[in-house]
Amino acid sequence: MLHYLIYMSHATQPMSDNNLDEILATAVKNNIEKDITGMLVFIDEQSAFSDHGRFIQVLEGSEETVKDIYKTISKDDRHNQITELFSYPIKQRNFPDWIMGFKRVSDTSSVPDELNKWFDPDHFPKEMNKEGVNIPLTYLRSFYDIHK
Ligand code: FAD
Repeated sequence: MLHYLIYMSHATQPMSDNNLDEILATAVKNNIEKDITGMLVFIDEQSAFSDHGRFIQVLEGSEETVKDIYKTISKDDRHNQITELFSYPIKQRNFPDWIMGFKRVSDTSSVPDELNKWFDPDHFPKEMNKEGVNIPLTYLRSFYDIHK
């Protein structure tokens, strides 16, 4: 059964392009082997919620593999405040040919307000919006829709 998991987290250190390349290189190496696909976005913003920026990532693959890799990622000290948003079965992958898509978002005005709410512990919606739209997944998927 295919499964997807979305989490968000906060970087614990300034993230240079080299730091991010290192994460991505490891992700690609492991994800190919484990048949994991998905998308990782780094929002390069210092804010009240985050000193060094924020990550949001979707992982998809077999349930066991996704949960295993998430467990590993959760222990990584390059980020903290790791919050699982969604973990559900899916019929088909949203990122079928992306071992791990990646985007560094430096223009933070491009991040939708609706998504920012998910990073605000006081307003954390923990659910899809009224229309049943999965805002974090829609945001991640927007990068795929542009490039595919
Ligand atoms: P190793 O061989 O142990 O390490 C690979 C490289 O990463 C080495 O160069 C090592 O020096 C460096 N490294 C490892 N841990 C640290 C650390 N704490 N600080 C600095 N450098 C370090 N892994 C995946 O497999 N798939 C993913 O999709 C994925 N996404 C990630 C997303 C985020 C936001 C972060 C922070 C990490 C992610 N990782 C991912 C990495 C994951 O947390 C583990 O580091 C990795 O899976 C360990 O794999 P390995 O044992 O093959 O790597």
